[in-house]
Amino acid sequence: MSETLLIRNGRLLSAADNLDYAPLDILIADGIIRDIGPDLKASNLPEYDAEGDIVSPALIDLHTHIYWGATSLGVNAEHVASRSGTGSFVDAGSAGAGNFLGFREFIAKNSDLRCFAFLNVSFAGIFGFGKSLMVGEGEIDRLLHEESCQQIADENRDLIIGIKVRAGKIAAGENGALAIEIGRRIAEKLDLPLMCHVDAHPPSIQQGLDHLQKGDLLTHCSKPGPNTVVDSHKNAIPELLKAIDRGVLLDIGHGMGGFDFEVCRAMLELGIKPDTISSDIHAQSVDGPAFDQLTALNKLIALGMPVAEAFTACTSNPAKIIGHDELGSLAIGTPADLAVFKWQASPKTFVDAKGQTLDTKRHLVCDRLMVAGRTIGKDGKAVKSES
Ligand SMILES: [Zn+2]
Repeated sequence: MSETLLIRNGRLLSAADNLDYAPLDILIADGIIRDIGPDLKASNLPEYDAEGDIVSPALIDLHTHIYWGATSLGVNAEHVASRSGTGSFVDAGSAGAGNFLGFREFIAKNSDLRCFAFLNVSFAGIFGFGKSLMVGEGEIDRLLHEESCQQIADENRDLIIGIKVRAGKIAAGENGALAIEIGRRIAEKLDLPLMCHVDAHPPSIQQGLDHLQKGDLLTHCSKPGPNTVVDSHKNAIPELLKAIDRGVLLDIGHGMGGFDFEVCRAMLELGIKPDTISSDIHAQSVDGPAFDQLTALNKLIALGMPVAEAFTACTSNPAKIIGHDELGSLAIGTPADLAVFKWQASPKTFVDAKGQTLDTKRHLVCDRLMVAGRTIGKDGKAVKSES
């Protein structure tokens, strides 16, 4: 059952609607946003006072691993949703063609959250990822099966919104850019974006970037060096600038090893901002250093990204990429996927993937998450309303 709720006096923040204004009221009923305005007239409706708070579309985490129980790196999205304000989780290649139907059946179908996926080019998905064991799904050429990936992605377009490849020594051994080449061909045929991870050489980050086209994503865009997008003088490598000119998008993908404050700071100083801020939560990053998408958003704000732009990178930008603009909007008539964030004025120290620290005086916490007009509880399930 969807709820009726009047959220009063919030700072409504939604780039998709050119909206950044306080105080405004927002009325939710029948699972959609019914009305927006100052001092909405209503009587006998449940109200929520959001004075001083940010009310935004529910966050969309473009890089997660939520195929829990079936893949060793999976985490349960329900455990992080309400604390993060994340209503939509996009799994980034945990599943391949060989095990995608389990993602649909056991994860997406049963969730009160919205679940999407990038399909891994590797038939087995990410199958050998653990604390004491690491077998890259891109190491075995025979698993990089173009036809299977293309077929399953094409048959499941309601959930599969792109193709995922992991290249680099850790994920693909000596296979270099092979997975990227295959992934790009599939993406081209299906007109879907490619999300690309490049860890240690080979391939070089330059080679990786050169394969990407308009609308593709480089994830772990602020990862520690070597093999990263800024050189030792903190200048952007030319291949990055050319990629940005072509329309390649930059995704944070924090994870266990994918985010370096120094690299990110250098990029921001060069005027290069991430298009999407995602967590890359998985079994080895969800208890730190990544935690959740809101933590990543807070880190970007602490590094100097303007608050409104950081929210855009967590809402309307990922919404566009997954082909669901309506989920990144607060327009009247769109689904009531939204979140209320409060500023907490207390010192906090954030830690990146290298163990470097960053002190802040204030940060955001999520006070309420709604998906399709239903409040999501701490257990990640829609709260049963009395009405
Ligand atoms: Zn990942």
